[in-house]
Amino acid sequence: ERQEDLNPERKPEDRDRALRPQGLEEFIGQAEARANLRVFIESAKRRGEAMDHTLFHGPPGLGKTTLAQIMARELGVNFRMTSGPVLAKAGDLAAILTNLEARDVLFIDEIHRMNPAVEEVLYPAMEDYELDLVIGEGPAARTVRIELQPFTLVGATTRLGLLTTPLRDRFGIPTRLQFYNVDELHQIVQRGARLMGAPADDDGAREIATRARGTPRIAGRLLRRVVDFAIVEGDGRVTQALADRALTRLDVDHLGLDGADRRYLRLIAESYGGGPVGIETLSAALSESRDALEEVIEPYLLQQGLIQRTPRGRMLTRASWRHLGLEAPKSESD
Ligand code: ADP
Repeated sequence: ERQEDLNPERKPEDRDRALRPQGLEEFIGQAEARANLRVFIESAKRRGEAMDHTLFHGPPGLGKTTLAQIMARELGVNFRMTSGPVLAKAGDLAAILTNLEARDVLFIDEIHRMNPAVEEVLYPAMEDYELDLVIGEGPAARTVRIELQPFTLVGATTRLGLLTTPLRDRFGIPTRLQFYNVDELHQIVQRGARLMGAPADDDGAREIATRARGTPRIAGRLLRRVVDFAIVEGDGRVTQALADRALTRLDVDHLGLDGADRRYLRLIAESYGGGPVGIETLSAALSESRDALEEVIEPYLLQQGLIQRTPRGRMLTRASWRHLGLEAPKSESD
């Protein structure tokens, strides 16, 4: 089995494979998705067929890539990985598809950012394991059909709404990933600490879990930073007091919100009286792309009940005012 990353643009922390769970058994959380995947993987293996195309959607860092890798390993096939923006031309995708071996997993990250010409190539490939290539130009152009090995496409997206309907409809197994609860993140932090050989108290690990924004990637990053503080400024042990001190210095508050989250909330509070305010306005005022707000910042704030999305824009909730330590204006709508 080979694992090959065809995408040169991955962030360094994603290359850190040490903390990645290797099998479905080791994967913590996402109980429902995991139970279903177990059935679909087992069934594909018994039938000796490629598993159905699978789409993972949800905020960044929740384990979409990890689950795709686990699928390949459990199926006993190769894992190939690329991403929507990297596939510039139809030929780029064709080259990858024609190199797949039977039942391989091809993972396309950020699949909503694929160029439409590339997406066209994907339809017959997904549906019939066929590739229609245009050879030549002008009147001499002709189409040749190439048979592909049966394969499993695993797509990942943070923005389900941006996928075209024909693409979405071709995934037999759409799977939504949820934010993790504190108990699950606690287990993830404890496992990470064990793998790093860093001694972490139960309370210390829980402090990190509570402030990890429901996200394993953030839990891993915070753990590494807290361990740095423990080594340099403590006795190497991750205690609750040390974790609290380190996270506060990293500007992560008790709900796990970071500077960008609080800037977003404070802007709505202080400049727009708590909203409603439109996303474009927020994007301009914060100098953040609308995508970044919608994909990274808002999902967790919504899940925590700190903001509401209304037809007229974003609004702070009472909990949000309380969290900011500000007085909510009197209003009829509460
Ligand atoms: P995504 O593709 O959704 O952005 P990744 O699969 O790259 O997320 O996961 C981000 C990081 O979090 C990885 O380092 C991975 O090891 C870790 N991770 C994700 N899910 C889990 C989990 N359930 N248990 C332990 N670690 C996890």
